[in-house]
Amino acid sequence: MPLLVVGSVALDCVETPTDKRDDVLGGSAVFFSYAASFFSPVRMIGTVGEDWPTRHTRFLQDRGIDTSGIETIAGGKTFRWRGRYLPNMNDRETLEVHLNVFGEFKPTLTAGHQDSRFVFLGNASPTTQLSVLDQVPKAHLTVADTMDLWINIQRDELATLLRRIDGLVLNDSEAKLLAEDENLVRAGHTVRAMGPKFVVIKKGEHGAMFFSEHEMYVMPAYPTPRVVDPTGAGDSFAGGMMGHLAALGRLDPQSLKEALAYGVVTASFTVEDFSLDRLQGINRRDLDSRLAEYRQMLSF
Ligand code: AMP
Repeated sequence: MPLLVVGSVALDCVETPTDKRDDVLGGSAVFFSYAASFFSPVRMIGTVGEDWPTRHTRFLQDRGIDTSGIETIAGGKTFRWRGRYLPNMNDRETLEVHLNVFGEFKPTLTAGHQDSRFVFLGNASPTTQLSVLDQVPKAHLTVADTMDLWINIQRDELATLLRRIDGLVLNDSEAKLLAEDENLVRAGHTVRAMGPKFVVIKKGEHGAMFFSEHEMYVMPAYPTPRVVDPTGAGDSFAGGMMGHLAALGRLDPQSLKEALAYGVVTASFTVEDFSLDRLQGINRRDLDSRLAEYRQMLSF
């Protein structure tokens, strides 16, 4: 089933302890869409400026991604993010964020996009995420991402969003901030009690934790020895997870668990090179064989 994603479309500058890249393709909607496209048809909603290289749109279209929801704003500039990774390659600092056209982003979905059954609300303001939710009345599964900025400045709007979505994906420090609790297990349960049916806490190189009313489990990260650039790992995790669910069209606990495993494995490829460079070089068979290896690692 088609999967709709709304989020940032970006030009990223990334510095790691040993290398750097300027103006590479990035953004939450981009990483998500590319990752999800291994599994199901994807509809991408975003905004870019006049400086956006059209080759990036063609690159996404060549993957079969529906890019008709990417709006180009005349006279505008594309969202830009600059980040630097610390030597542990897990923690990063944001050096610059220029919201540009993303700051005024008010997505209006076409009738064709409004019938989407699987919806991912990538990192954007809760107000924007709520406005998208209003436009997808037939959605079976709605999952959102959020970040510290919105927890700090739009907590009330975020609380409204949490009461309306099925799932929330966020990282460990954000879960602690939202729950106001340093204990991650308690924080996960607290965030779940704020409304979503399930919460996935991403822990970078330490994997992910899942919380629903009746279940809690942890999934380790796939232990790749080649960590080049972790940017987009969280979004590709969500893309792999949602892509698998959209392909199955099922939401039972076992399918959700398998979806998380696909998310882990997809993200493990993303970190092996800058931008989408590594994901570009793999196919569904590579994902499946790494999933089989991961499954084997977890059985005892
Ligand atoms: P991740 O590493 O999965 O957290 O995602 C990194 C991507 O998020 C980068 O490609 C950035 O362009 C994008 N990004 C960074 N800050 C923001 C923000 N405030 N809103 C939306 N997207 C962002």
